[in-house]
Amino acid sequence: MKYYCPECAVRLNVVNPIDAATQNLTGSNYQFEKFVKHTAPIEYKGIVSVFFWQDYPLYRDFTISGSLSGIVQIDDLDRRNLIWYAGRDIGITYENGIYKLPNDAVKVVLSDNPTGIHAYPVNFELQYATLCLACSRPLPS
Ligand SMILES: [Zn+2]
Repeated sequence: MKYYCPECAVRLNVVNPIDAATQNLTGSNYQFEKFVKHTAPIEYKGIVSVFFWQDYPLYRDFTISGSLSGIVQIDDLDRRNLIWYAGRDIGITYENGIYKLPNDAVKVVLSDNPTGIHAYPVNFELQYATLCLACSRPLPS
């Protein structure tokens, strides 16, 4: 995994998120399914991360914050995710319906895809972010 702070990500052009503020984030079936899964899931099979709030405006705000201010995580398959540290608990991860972890960060995936972009809560510590690869700033900062 590689990590970049938001400023270096912009400067080095490592990620080009769409403008989440102007998008309908439940515009595709795929996005609507993800929105329901992560705000008001119908079932809790496997690992399910859920925001505390079910309303779309807040989901949208989290996705925008992640897109604009998230650190960039590049995994071994070159997938780029944005992770925004909220600094407070914003959701819970369940495993088969049993509480597993508190979530204090938002992960935005498929951030450059207007019909794929979506967000869900994660536990920042488990993202293993350490320092920005370009400027060595600690993450989150
Ligand atoms: Zn940096």
